[in-house]
Amino acid sequence: DELRGEVSGNKGSRQVPGYHYSRVTPTPVREPKLLAWSDELGDYLGLAKPVGRGAAESILGGNILLPSMKPFAARYGGHQFGNWAGQLGDGRAISLGQVAATDGSPWEIQLKGAGPTPYSRRADGRAVLRSSVREFLCSEAMHYLGVPTTRALSLVATGDEVVRDMFYNGNARPEPGAIVARVAPTFIRFGNFQIMAALGEMDNLRALADYVIRHHYPELGEPSLEVYVRWFEEVARRTAVMVAHWMTVGFVHGVMNTDNMSILGVTIDYGPYGWLEPYDPDWTPNTTDFGSRRYAFGQQPHVAMWNLMALAQALGPLVADPQALRAGLDVYADTFSATQHELLLRKLGLTALDNASDHALTEALPAALAEAEADMTIFFRQLSYLPAALLTAEAQEEKLFNELLAQSTYTDAPGADLGLREWLHRYALRLRQETASPETIQEGMLAANPKYVLRNYLAQQAIEAAEAGDLSKLNTLFEVLKTPFAEHPEHEELAAKRPEWAQDKPGCATLSCSS
Ligand code: AMP
Ligand code: MG
Ligand code: MG
Repeated sequence: DELRGEVSGNKGSRQVPGYHYSRVTPTPVREPKLLAWSDELGDYLGLAKPVGRGAAESILGGNILLPSMKPFAARYGGHQFGNWAGQLGDGRAISLGQVAATDGSPWEIQLKGAGPTPYSRRADGRAVLRSSVREFLCSEAMHYLGVPTTRALSLVATGDEVVRDMFYNGNARPEPGAIVARVAPTFIRFGNFQIMAALGEMDNLRALADYVIRHHYPELGEPSLEVYVRWFEEVARRTAVMVAHWMTVGFVHGVMNTDNMSILGVTIDYGPYGWLEPYDPDWTPNTTDFGSRRYAFGQQPHVAMWNLMALAQALGPLVADPQALRAGLDVYADTFSATQHELLLRKLGLTALDNASDHALTEALPAALAEAEADMTIFFRQLSYLPAALLTAEAQEEKLFNELLAQSTYTDAPGADLGLREWLHRYALRLRQETASPETIQEGMLAANPKYVLRNYLAQQAIEAAEAGDLSKLNTLFEVLKTPFAEHPEHEELAAKRPEWAQDKPGCATLSCSS
């Protein structure tokens, strides 16, 4: 209620100048059916898992609204692939409102795929099961990996069919529809500010900034010229931390348009994302981006900076001297490199000792991983089992490294792993300078290097089974991904290297933007 909302409801796609959001209602679906539920998040929010065919399931499917709900779709714009796209907005996501969690903090619940809104443009406002499974699993997996992210509470099948004008498994065909209830303190993005600035809606721009500062950055104090500058620095800092995490777990967002950048610095909008298999800075899962590779893995730190510059441009009119926002960009660059370095040291079981040579060590790793086509998840995890052996039996080094490289690399090309082998010898020397016991080092590494990530082909297998009515793969994967740093001896197969057959299979390694 603090922001200007348009009350005219779902009257078809249109421009909505002057408003932050539009009041809309979800369009009912044929037969909502709960497919997955995040227990821990539900407990935290104080929401019970729906049992049987009842009201709760219908709420999550958008068929029932409670009197306290004031559903809305937010208006935002954005740069898509570097070009200003004008008004975008929640075209298929409808927020039901906020709930207070068990600790009192407010969380917004949004139904993604709940039907058309004024922002749907020519699309249907719906989501297919495939993309909903991907969003549900990945947001939760990222949370349990410790990556800043929006959450997912439920996955509901709608009982309706959705037709996508695209090729999936060879043919355009009707697919089952689904709705994910996703959860975040707010879903406000860079693009919400950009649309206000682009259309010269200065009062709205300031109101939105004040709203975000008061509710989500209260530690900065009451909004003022000076506080806007510090707020931008804080957004930049959080964005840097988020991207540093992506780079150290091998996550590729796939569509880092400015409308997909959260003002809270959390990962938002799981679309054609993917997880690195062979380490490759040039890899993107997004077929729409195969030409420019703008959003490839190695580009992500630069793109986040570009996006922050776009946000700074939008916020410029709020501050006395727009140049003051430059400091935020420096905060981004410094925080990103410091955080990435820190995270890598933790993954390597090293405490910061000699800054210059430690940086040289962590900075040499990506190129070596790329040349060897290493699976970074397996590489770091297997490395985590080695400190005791490395610190006690130097003679074993060559043998240990042979095994590690055989386990974790995808290429057989002669000599491709020479660089990584040499790097490992450097690392072993450095590891010997640590004073902690091998057991302590190993423990720390196992807590920093997940064994389980949402491998592209595993998500696809869970999807194909779910489409055929079998939820067992989805459930198993979800369970294991809740404790990705633990051993699950009965599920070694979920930690395995990507099999050959999955290399270029649609859905496994290649995805398109809109689903
Ligand atoms: P994305 O590429 O997922 O970030 O989406 C870009 C824009 O397209 C956003 O405004 C979305 O709300 C909108 N959009 C994507 N898919 C649909 C859909 N099926 N129906 C309506 N709007 C959509
Ligand atoms: Mg989006
Ligand atoms: Mg999307």
